[in-house]
Amino acid sequence: MVKQQEYSLFEDVCKVVDHAASHMDIHPGLLDQIKQCNSVYKFNFPLRNGDGTYQVIEGYRVQHSHHKLPVKGGIRYSSFVNEEEVKGLAALMTYKCALVNIPYGGAKGGVTIDPTKYTTDQLEKITRRYTSELIKKKFIGPAIDVPAPDYGTSSREMAWIVDTFEAFNPEVINAKGCVTGKPLSQHGIEGRTEATGMGVFIGIREAVSVREDMEALGLGVGLAGKKIIVQGFGNVGYYSAKYLQEAGAKIIGIAEYNGGIWNEDGIDVEEIKTYQLVNKGFLGYKKGTFVENAASMLTYPCDILIPAALENQITLDNADKVQAKIIGEAANGPVTQDADNILLEKGIMVIPDMYLNAGGVTVSYFEWLKNLSRVSFGKLEKRYDMKKYDALLETIEKATGDSFSEQQKELIVRGASERDLVNSGLEETMVTAYHHMNGVRKEKNIKDLRTAGFIVALERISISYMDLGIFP
Ligand code: GLU
Repeated sequence: MVKQQEYSLFEDVCKVVDHAASHMDIHPGLLDQIKQCNSVYKFNFPLRNGDGTYQVIEGYRVQHSHHKLPVKGGIRYSSFVNEEEVKGLAALMTYKCALVNIPYGGAKGGVTIDPTKYTTDQLEKITRRYTSELIKKKFIGPAIDVPAPDYGTSSREMAWIVDTFEAFNPEVINAKGCVTGKPLSQHGIEGRTEATGMGVFIGIREAVSVREDMEALGLGVGLAGKKIIVQGFGNVGYYSAKYLQEAGAKIIGIAEYNGGIWNEDGIDVEEIKTYQLVNKGFLGYKKGTFVENAASMLTYPCDILIPAALENQITLDNADKVQAKIIGEAANGPVTQDADNILLEKGIMVIPDMYLNAGGVTVSYFEWLKNLSRVSFGKLEKRYDMKKYDALLETIEKATGDSFSEQQKELIVRGASERDLVNSGLEETMVTAYHHMNGVRKEKNIKDLRTAGFIVALERISISYMDLGIFP
């Protein structure tokens, strides 16, 4: 496997962009501008340990494209964080937002630490200092650059970020919109935690609903009974697996950094999550076989493989051994460009990251809109005694000739809640983008969805740049 330090995610993303552009009529100068990262900010700051020693912490924020403002993208805490990775992830955010038509430029941040090796106190200090560095350089703000959670961070870190930002910017009325993925108590939004996994589920559901595409792969239509392996069982992997299982798919393998679990009859997602939280891993779980070398599970037989951890997982080393028919990229950049070509030759369908994990930023957008307008979406939740409304609903059914499901009846009575609005907006975004991308693939006679996705994104970004003109 290419070592993480030697591998450049940014270079890989640029190669894919060049390939997509070769199917388009796009000015080479404009293409160069689109590909480059507009601003790269790398900084170091000290952390005082309790025992009189110090550590120097390395931080990054990269703004890839200013064709739309603010720029948007998560903050990652991992020991692998480096400049090439953050640049690549920032670029992916630009293309992702353009593909699903969310009006942001792309950005990404990172801190090179293994968060599991730090206390909560230390993580709070690091997060607040990191935020203050961004504030000093105007690399954060509701109209400038809006971070969010990513690998190794969650709503907890986002709460520290908004609190630090507000402390330094008391006059900014929409300050809550300086970051998304916040806890509900801090003006977050219902469904943001689950959003990426929900988007992964909707994207895969759409892909397997297209009869001719499934026939070409020798698979049946629909999720029912599809055998799935998930790599990574954090927020994204867990919610993806949960929703896919609820829709009838069979989760037969879950691979984590400290070992995997395998059971061809299916693994109960809720039960294994609880087990993992209590036991810090899958070792000792009775209803499956423990797999010590979890990375080997990427090449186990299954219908759908979902890498939901880090980039650079399916490489020249293992691509030819992959047995899945579909790869759903829930992580950013899990398949290297060289590996992608091998998968294509093998006839494997890859649902690209720039589309499949866009649920997170889509719901971030809803949260940001809510913060800018300083309102809560939907009605306040209240429990209704539905029986009281039976007669009324029956009258409506008779008058309109419609017949409503229990869920629809509840919606009519109580009005849409914030969660209903978030989920329907997410559904609409993911469904529309999938069929647009797949339509372009067919229309241009392109084999893979990734190239088609990049074409859609590049079209939108280049129009935006051309309409903007060049300053001065
Ligand atoms: N970190 C997530 C991503 O890679 C979410 C970004 C956001 O919500 O801004 O898409």
